[in-house]
Amino acid sequence: MIKFLDLHKVNLPYQAAFQEKMQELLDKGWFVLGDEVQTFEQQFARYTQSKYCIGVGNGLDAMVLIFKAYIELGLLQKGDEIIVPANTYIASILAVLQADLTPVLVEPDVETFNLNPNEIEAKITAKTKGILVVHLYGQLADMEAIATIGSQHNLLIIEDAAQAHGLPFLGSHARAFSFYPGKNLGALGDAGCITTDDSDLAKVLFALRNYGSEQKYYNEYLGVNSRLDELQAAFLNVKLPHLDKENAVRRSIAQRYLVEIRNPKIRLPKCDDFQKHVFHLFVIRTANRAELQEYLKQNGVETLIHYPVPAHQQKALSAWQSLSFPITEAIHREVLSLPMSPVLTAAEVDYIIQILNQY
Ligand SMILES: *Cc1c(COP(=O)(O)O)cnc(C)c1O
Repeated sequence: MIKFLDLHKVNLPYQAAFQEKMQELLDKGWFVLGDEVQTFEQQFARYTQSKYCIGVGNGLDAMVLIFKAYIELGLLQKGDEIIVPANTYIASILAVLQADLTPVLVEPDVETFNLNPNEIEAKITAKTKGILVVHLYGQLADMEAIATIGSQHNLLIIEDAAQAHGLPFLGSHARAFSFYPGKNLGALGDAGCITTDDSDLAKVLFALRNYGSEQKYYNEYLGVNSRLDELQAAFLNVKLPHLDKENAVRRSIAQRYLVEIRNPKIRLPKCDDFQKHVFHLFVIRTANRAELQEYLKQNGVETLIHYPVPAHQQKALSAWQSLSFPITEAIHREVLSLPMSPVLTAAEVDYIIQILNQY
């Protein structure tokens, strides 16, 4: 069986370094907000060419904290509207709701799966204060067009970069990253961070993640406990220098899938510029998905669906049941994610392509 993602194998090259870090930490006896977190924040700020990086507990918290920090700074108010893609993982939408803001869903471009800039302006009202952009599956959204709309309407542009480590970023005010184990840069548990060039925002975020406190036992804000811990930061420090190389492997696998999969029943993703895609996922579309998934399973290829049910049709958001997003719904019916990871071998890729072409 070719696994969709073999996390044991992904982390195998780093095992000895992880064990060394673990022993170092046990010897030092300092587990929360120490040297490893500070080093990671410096290294990841440099890697993303940002002025500040704030380590937090996970990717969802990273987004919620950005919104809460803007509320503290007076740039957002409870009830303000935030444009979000209808076609995303539910975390993006939950983040807006958790900050007491109002998500306004917008349809994607059917080819890129990402926010369609042409659909945004019609949804802007006097209450719209921001756009949460998601780079779905690792492909850069149309940031130029979105940033132009943002500056015309004086909106905050925030990126959900949970699937986008290694992309060139442009024109946003703040970005949220997740280091969930399956991401392109994955920890060995939950972890996340925020990057920004805004010193006021960074200052509030450093406090908010730690009970709203800048100085221990003195609380400026009603904060939360969402700290990146030392052990996860240490693991991330081991892996970060290898991220570009791993993304290059993902791109070369994607290149092969795009050139060599030849089957009229399978619609391949559109990618004009490999510099704007880090292939967190390689997602095909097919009319009869259940059948194709079963066929692949019978032939020893594991696939996943990202995602089977759109947010507006989830039970948890039953108030939205009457909303209709036909492009989003069609995407959710048809998408299937092929195995994609930096440890997939050439022979495995050969086999997956051969099996797909025989379908
Ligand atoms: C993984 C993911 C998140 C959430 O990250 P967590 O660290 O699991 O909280 C948010 N948005 C997208 C698009 C994701 O893929």
